[in-house]
Amino acid sequence: MTNATHDVSDIYLKYAAERDKRLRHDGLGQYARVTKVLTGYGVDPHQPVQAREPVTDHVTFAFIGGGFAGLTVGARLHEAGIDDVRLIDKAGDFGGVWYWNRYPGAMCDTSSLIYLPLLEETSYMPTEKYAHGPEIFEHARRIGRHYYLYDNALFHTEVLSVDWEQDASRWRITTNRGDSFTAQFVGVGLGPLHVAKVPDVPGIDSFAGVSFHTTQWDYGYTGGDADGAPMDKLADKRVGVIGTGATALQAVPELAKTCGDLFVVQRTPTSVDIRNNAPIDPEWFEQISAEPGWQQAWLDNFTANWEAYLGNAADHAELEDLVGDGWTDLGRRLRDAVAEIPAGELTEERFIQAMAGADLSKMEEIRARVDDVVADPRIAEGLKAWYSQLCKRPGFHDDYLRVFNQDNVHLVDTDGKGIERITERGVVINGEELELDCIIWATGFEYATDYASRTGFSLAGRDEATLAKHWADGMRTMHGMHMRGFPNLFLVQMLQAAFLGSNVPSNYADNARTIAQIVGHARGADIATMEVTAEAEQAWVDMLYERGRPFGSPECTPGYYNNEGSAVTDRDRYNVGYPDGAGAFFALMKQWRACGDFEGLTFS
Ligand code: NDP
Repeated sequence: MTNATHDVSDIYLKYAAERDKRLRHDGLGQYARVTKVLTGYGVDPHQPVQAREPVTDHVTFAFIGGGFAGLTVGARLHEAGIDDVRLIDKAGDFGGVWYWNRYPGAMCDTSSLIYLPLLEETSYMPTEKYAHGPEIFEHARRIGRHYYLYDNALFHTEVLSVDWEQDASRWRITTNRGDSFTAQFVGVGLGPLHVAKVPDVPGIDSFAGVSFHTTQWDYGYTGGDADGAPMDKLADKRVGVIGTGATALQAVPELAKTCGDLFVVQRTPTSVDIRNNAPIDPEWFEQISAEPGWQQAWLDNFTANWEAYLGNAADHAELEDLVGDGWTDLGRRLRDAVAEIPAGELTEERFIQAMAGADLSKMEEIRARVDDVVADPRIAEGLKAWYSQLCKRPGFHDDYLRVFNQDNVHLVDTDGKGIERITERGVVINGEELELDCIIWATGFEYATDYASRTGFSLAGRDEATLAKHWADGMRTMHGMHMRGFPNLFLVQMLQAAFLGSNVPSNYADNARTIAQIVGHARGADIATMEVTAEAEQAWVDMLYERGRPFGSPECTPGYYNNEGSAVTDRDRYNVGYPDGAGAFFALMKQWRACGDFEGLTFS
């Protein structure tokens, strides 16, 4: 069907029309932090806060964030012989997003065998190809126990300030629990998506019913639990879910099981690809995990398949796909399309054409799947995603589309406009009030907002350096990790580094190896401070500015991938990954570590 030229151009016209419907003049300004509207948000519903004395000691390494970033760094530091590592988190336990996100149906979207870090080291076999939230949370706790990270951890603790003390060559950290302690090294790893947001629409705080964000699911109201017990208090309720992103895709099928009436309020349909979750067979796992280093081999294989279209795609034609999930399927299709270009004819134009062709056929499959699953053609039409696959975060689920065949599930299509306002009784959409007992905000997280404001604490480096000043003209780091003026400080995140968004923890796994090596070296050589040179930082950001490609395209339908469709600014040109891809970045870092001369850093 899409081979005929006029059909293809019709599809692109449709993409453009759908995008235009969603474009808004207020961009990121359309959202508010959830704390602005939901009272009690941020109060831990899972665990009571334990009284404790303020901490005033000194540790070798303090890490802000107790998710997989902090856990993998803590693990590798422990292996390097550093046993006074302190992880600090405002949650009551380790787990990061998996501590807070206990919404029904939560599971990983990348194969567990690569999503869950340190499987080999902790001798753990995930139970399913895509593990559910409670199992992932428990794995975070397993890492904490395995590496003795609980001994020094501070939970229910928010960092207020992190200040460099020049004379003593150490950082001072203060918190909302009265702590004031020092650390030779500090790591910051807060995850890319941890500040929940809602649309800043009129009347948002006026709803008289129950409302909550998916990060703080109110099982007291819904009944059930995160382990999958049915939400048995919803049988006579009218529940509205606002948003149809990756979170809603997982929560909606669970709500559909028990809700009296479930209204799924959609602004842009998500592409919903096949999930095919299945239990992991222990015998098979024993085979694949027999070789030491198997998980790293799987991580490398995943990255290679995901990016197989980069470089010489034909070279990757025989590449085995060990992981076989939705992400590698995408990468392999792109690779096959590029590999078909005859040798010597690979121009930028042919490359783009090949990529577009592969993308189009994938999206046609995804749209055809909606017709196959959803009985009512009008509803099916409303659920189709009209954009290129990587314009928005791809979705995967086996039941999401199917539940729209149920009488109690109603698609409320806002035709790209979103909700207009909230009243005491419900939401107003297309001028009509929809009465609800409960509103569930599945409206995501801040992404491209100011990093300094998302951290929630003040950071003051050498000579009064602050993040706001250092990044006044855009992000500046070397390897996404080191910043001039912030000695002994490590950022653990993806930008200006691998930027492997399809498997976030593997970015951290690599960061952790680098940090453990640097800190191990500093300790062994009795070195007090480590800092990136101004020249090395400049060279890294110059390279990124010249060669990096901003991730989201303004041509795409708006969303958090492309700053809600706004034009690419000069600052955005620094918010990029390593230009040659994640695999190349990991290889570069491996070489950098193996070399052992810590190029770009000074030690004193
Ligand atoms: P998203 O940002 O992906 O989705 C938010 C949803 O809210 C979108 O559908 C958005 O519509 C909608 N929305 C926003 N404003 C309005 C409005 N005014 N009216 C109606 N709808 C509105 O958030 P999620 O929490 O779903 O996912 C965030 C990210 O978290 C994912 O992209 C993924 O990276 C990660 N995640 C990962 C999971 C995993 O790996 N297992 C599971 C869940 C999340 P629109 O699209 O039009 O902007």
